[in-house]
Amino acid sequence: SNMMAGQPVIILKEGTERNTGRDAQKNNLMAGIAIAEAIKSTLGPKGMDKMLVDSLGDMVITNDGATILDELDVEHPAAKLLIQVSKSQDKVVGDGTTTAVVLAGELLKKGGELLDKKVHPTHIVSGYKKAAEEAQRILDEIALRTTDKDREVLTKIAMTALNSKSVSNAREVIANLAVDAALAVLEDRNGDVTVDIDNVKILQRQGKSLADSVLIKGIALDKEVLHPDMPKRVENAKIALINRNIEVEKTEFDAEIRISDPLSIQAFLDQEEKMIKEMVEKIAAIGANVLICQKGIDDLAQHFLAKKGIMAVRRVKKSDMEKLARATGARIVSNLEDLNEKDLGEAGLVRAEKIGDDDYVFVEECKNPQAVTVMLRGASKYTTDEAERAFIDALSVVRDVLEDKAYLAGGGAPEAELSVKLEQFANKLSGKEGLAAKAFAEALRIIPMTLAENAGYDPIEKLTELISAHGKGENKVGLNVLTGEIADMVEMGVVEPLRVKKQAIKSASEAAEMIMRIDDVIAVKSTEDKGGAGQGGGPPGGMPGMGGMGGMPGMM
Ligand code: ADP
Ligand code: MG
Repeated sequence: SNMMAGQPVIILKEGTERNTGRDAQKNNLMAGIAIAEAIKSTLGPKGMDKMLVDSLGDMVITNDGATILDELDVEHPAAKLLIQVSKSQDKVVGDGTTTAVVLAGELLKKGGELLDKKVHPTHIVSGYKKAAEEAQRILDEIALRTTDKDREVLTKIAMTALNSKSVSNAREVIANLAVDAALAVLEDRNGDVTVDIDNVKILQRQGKSLADSVLIKGIALDKEVLHPDMPKRVENAKIALINRNIEVEKTEFDAEIRISDPLSIQAFLDQEEKMIKEMVEKIAAIGANVLICQKGIDDLAQHFLAKKGIMAVRRVKKSDMEKLARATGARIVSNLEDLNEKDLGEAGLVRAEKIGDDDYVFVEECKNPQAVTVMLRGASKYTTDEAERAFIDALSVVRDVLEDKAYLAGGGAPEAELSVKLEQFANKLSGKEGLAAKAFAEALRIIPMTLAENAGYDPIEKLTELISAHGKGENKVGLNVLTGEIADMVEMGVVEPLRVKKQAIKSASEAAEMIMRIDDVIAVKSTEDKGGAGQGGGPPGGMPGMGGMGGMPGMM
């Protein structure tokens, strides 16, 4: 933390930019609020698109909060902090970034109002903290449980997350692929479920449409089998994974061999041929019938491998080598002398196939089935890129629910419920802390209100209906923005992972607390040449005041 306990002694050069006390606080709050305002209108399925234009005139149109925040060129330190929060939200749980930032903005706004009423930041922070903790408890309490890997629930979770993506016409295809992929890589150790989404490999292929996307149980490499005489299909494959060149390195020629007469040239070539032959023989001798190489395999080596009936593929990506190692149980070997049969991986089938104009090698029926490939099809790179982003989001939320076995109603229902419950909680706290907790409860209403507003409904009217339903104990009632109905969101299939909501509220409140605790912003040298960081200074960077948003690319 940048905060020092006690009283730091700060010695500053004359003219150092410094902004203290109320000024610093106000300034930070306003920057945070501005960031939230900037993406508020993208929240929910009916969110508006933003056009982002950079200084070179390149343009992105998106309604994805995470993407927008990623592209923003923001200078204000407090604004940067909020953007970091949204990034980690995306990375850890895969969804809920806009929610987190919009909520943080509202917490800052309410915090500012309390500051105006002379409530000390310490009390605001401790009230927010207590409310945020209570919120976690309430969410756990109202969550719905699902222990049987219920496809229907999982599909709805994916569909809800995809509601706010620009792939709406392929929602169902992507949701189903995400559920299939997550279930395929799932590991269940006595009910302790883990879904490692790194075990899902994504390949994009242009041509056909998204509906033609498929899940392959195994690993697909977009590679060809090297030599026409090599087998195109190997059953009971014994796979060698090698990460060195299968060729004689040219440097050896330059550095070590002095050629003085034609005879020694021939001798050298013979020697080279012998070395490559030995490498191939070594691979064949331990029983490998498939060779997958991260580096090059030269013509001569290909020829010998083909003669031995070994299928070979070269220049495979490191990340694919690692997936293959996991899936087949092979060890990636760089020194051929070390290679022995225990290093070989196993797969029921390795086969080459041409799809359209592209060559693929499929490694299927692996020893460890927890590895799958999703091949996303689409008319253009733009379509498959969008599909890939949406697929990863869908996969993440399905993982969240499989691992936690818990989910919530969507459509603003949890926020309305929390608002009602936290208000009661706040009444039990004393004085200023109670005021802050009450402000926290009110801040949560921004989510259902924004969902309503973005869909063209009257936010106050919809909020009033929601709060009244939740007051009567109907804790799953939310606003379905696709139909305009205020109804039980679980029945309507609008559902979200518990993990996403808990994390969004946690990171929003932590960001707001962090920003409100700062009462001193000092411009210091840039991070690189700072050395001995943590000298009681605020976050690095300039303090462009509210003009700090000036660094944003044109936003409409
Ligand atoms: P985030 O970045 O926070 O995920 P989104 O733009 O994806 O923001 O919007 C998520 C919100 O949209 C959640 O509150 C979710 O419940 C809500 N949502 C999704 N589908 C619907 C729907 N059909 N009706 C109402 N709310 C919905
Ligand atoms: Mg979302």
